[in-house]
Amino acid sequence: MLPQFSYVRPDTLQDTVKHLNEKNAAIHAGGTDLIGCLRDGIMQVDKMVSLSALSDLHGIRETADGGLIIGALTTITEVAENPLVNQKYPGLSKGASEVASPQLRNQGTIGGNLCQKPRCWYYRGEFHCRRKGGDTCYALDGEHQFHAIFGHDFICIITHPSDTAPPLAALSAKLKISGPENSRTVPVEKFFVLPMENPRAETVLQPGEVITHVVLPAPAKNLRSSYRKVRARRSWDFALAGLALALEIKDDTVTNSRVYLSGAAPVPWRSRPVEDVITGRKLDDATIQKAARAVVEDATPILGNTYKMDLFKGVVEEELQAMR
Ligand SMILES: Cc1cc2nc3c(=O)[nH]c(=O)nc-3n(C[C@H](O)[C@H](O)[C@H](O)COP(=O)(O)OP(=O)(O)OC[C@H]3O[C@@H](n4cnc5c(N)ncnc54)[C@H](O)[C@@H]3O)c2cc1C
Ligand code: SF4
Repeated sequence: MLPQFSYVRPDTLQDTVKHLNEKNAAIHAGGTDLIGCLRDGIMQVDKMVSLSALSDLHGIRETADGGLIIGALTTITEVAENPLVNQKYPGLSKGASEVASPQLRNQGTIGGNLCQKPRCWYYRGEFHCRRKGGDTCYALDGEHQFHAIFGHDFICIITHPSDTAPPLAALSAKLKISGPENSRTVPVEKFFVLPMENPRAETVLQPGEVITHVVLPAPAKNLRSSYRKVRARRSWDFALAGLALALEIKDDTVTNSRVYLSGAAPVPWRSRPVEDVITGRKLDDATIQKAARAVVEDATPILGNTYKMDLFKGVVEEELQAMR
């Protein structure tokens, strides 16, 4: 059953932030994750603050330098289908089109997609695990076949759930954030928090803060981007393994690369070993094989998810071949 809460729909950002600064206030965007979290009892909310009246937070437009600015309330469908996104950042289009189901993409927003709570079944269930303030990670000795193989430090082994965050991080996107004290801009790659830093937080957002926009820099002339997701069910499912590539390729040589994994770690996971192998090289068979081996070289799988090692190798191999 849903707990009781009040609901407000402010029409200025200033009022929104004021409401959000109250104890146990939460942002309501599309509600597709939030309502489930309330039903599962993983959040306590006394006041729901809707963003829907903030017209500046809707839509996608081009910036003066040829980049894009996406309002946080823009639906995932709009991101997936927008011609400018598709033309400039196909990796982001693909990531958005891989989110959940058409109904959820129509209702869910890009801001909500970045801030959704993790999907660990112990966390969503009745277990008072470390992410809820307890002292045990039940997944470590329990069911963890979908959990992380990087970056967990055996503290909390969730995988970050968003399919738009890895391509956004690969594309060097930034988030505009407004809060009670001031506004700030945070690169997507610095937005998410590892369990070692704080096992109870997923993002650097502070109480009262709201993401207003996602800003993408103008794509470099030779930029090519992609996103690949492997999942158990075709209908809708979270990533078992995924790969976001943003490569600059000149004369068949990779001159610059940003490589992020999904379904891998508690945050979108940057694969420096793959970047180191491919940058400055042509994507020939030997380089691709080396990159496929490198992607798992720092992995720390747990008994039930060692199969992900081969999945990541395969995804890297296939996606780099497709980039040639
Ligand atoms: C069955 C199912 C399958 C799914 N599968 C996938 C999948 O495969 N891939 C994937 O990426 N996602 C998946 N999702 C998650 C889905 O994409 C999210 O529910 C959705 O993106 C959240 O968007 P929303 O606008 O509905 O957010 P809400 O539910 O309104 O909010 C989600 C969270 O973000 C916070 N929030 C929302 N907007 C902002 C903002 N602008 N600033 C700060 N905080 C904010 C809210 O307070 C809340 O905590 C799935 C969800 C479901 C229910
Ligand atoms: S993986 Fe994280 S969320 Fe899941 S049980 Fe362990 S501490 Fe809790």
